[in-house]
Amino acid sequence: MTSNAELLQRRAGAVPRGVATAMSIFADRAENAELWDIEGRRFIDFAAGIAVLNVGHRHPKVVAAARKQLDRFTHTAFQVAAYESYIELAERLNKLAPIDGPAKTILFSTGAEAVENAIKIARVATRRSAVVAFTGAFHGRSFMAMSLTGKTMPYKRGFGPLPGGVYHLPFPVAHYGVSVEDSLHGLHMLFKADVAAEEVAAIIIEPVQGEGGFFAAPPELLKGLREICDKYGIVLIVDEVQTGFARTGYMFGIEYSGVKPDLITVAKSLGGGFPLSAVIGRAELMDAVDPGGLGGTYAGSPVACAAALAVLDVIEEENLIERAKVLGERVVAELIEFAARKDLQPIGHIRALGSMIAFDLLKAHGSDEVDAPATQAVIKRAQALGLIVLGCGSQGEAIRLLFPLTISDAVLREGMGLLEQALGV
Ligand code: PMP
Repeated sequence: MTSNAELLQRRAGAVPRGVATAMSIFADRAENAELWDIEGRRFIDFAAGIAVLNVGHRHPKVVAAARKQLDRFTHTAFQVAAYESYIELAERLNKLAPIDGPAKTILFSTGAEAVENAIKIARVATRRSAVVAFTGAFHGRSFMAMSLTGKTMPYKRGFGPLPGGVYHLPFPVAHYGVSVEDSLHGLHMLFKADVAAEEVAAIIIEPVQGEGGFFAAPPELLKGLREICDKYGIVLIVDEVQTGFARTGYMFGIEYSGVKPDLITVAKSLGGGFPLSAVIGRAELMDAVDPGGLGGTYAGSPVACAAALAVLDVIEEENLIERAKVLGERVVAELIEFAARKDLQPIGHIRALGSMIAFDLLKAHGSDEVDAPATQAVIKRAQALGLIVLGCGSQGEAIRLLFPLTISDAVLREGMGLLEQALGV
């Protein structure tokens, strides 16, 4: 039997350091919220492949749909011979998305690709070039997405020159001392000092920052941005790659604010484990680009489309939007109890929208100061105990919980028990 240690050694010889892996184990098989490594060890999965598996590993309906498609055809390229599942998925996303008026959808494979294409569409539709994004944002690793990402290390440093015309505004987080007024004031200053509002094609924002630390954009900010976009003819893009598909207790995270964006990027949980992403948007914007200007050989893979249609069915049939709210409340209540316990390491800044939950390790009980090394140590301890959790936040100071929404009550309880143990002093 191949061991984790052997594979780690082979990995070091064959794969560059630039792709980092959180765990030192190698996956063998997985089922719903559980994963087994090649040595037969069981893990509870609170990472869900970085927010990809809202319906769990290998949901039987998703597997059956993909299998059925495998027996028909695996690839034609939508640009060569189209297929119904792509159209059906576009129709369903158009209906579900909180877009004002008629919507259209184009499919791609990755989140970064969806972001790149949303910017292309916004630029052509407005005939403008500048784009405004936020500090702490993560939009992907391709060039434009990297330029939009609001964190230099490890995502940007050394990779320049990056595409120009990108400006960052401070993202409001109360305990960082940045308010909604600061952000909106920053935007007006930007229009005065750096780029005229009439030259801005788009503003892009995550409804809840993902890699940046699971901070929800306050509704007043989103409403303020909507007003400014309406006033100056700017396209409002919300990046729902991490927040999409029931995770936040809404189908799309932006719904919690009541704001209607112009374009939405989605990926991750849409394909239920198969690479699939999309840009959904107002039809008149989506139709701005001439034929041939958008697409990609693998964009909207038929196997991924079949899986995505099953994912949308499962979300509906299993009431996962409601379940995200219920589980979120349950877990947050438990974290609040953990925060009050002196026999556990100090945690705080507990934040959640539905089941998109994070908290920080703090320097001391009652302190407001975050402790990034302690966070990393707890993540490692959790992994050693059999719980997969990921960090996030600008300094890696937060632990994020992204369990599949299909997780059973028993496995969720067991996972929270392991987290409690990992937090032990
Ligand atoms: N946008 C957001 C909000 C994300 O969280 C991510 C991935 N973490 C991306 C874009 C990039 O997606 P991908 O890795 O599929 O390119």
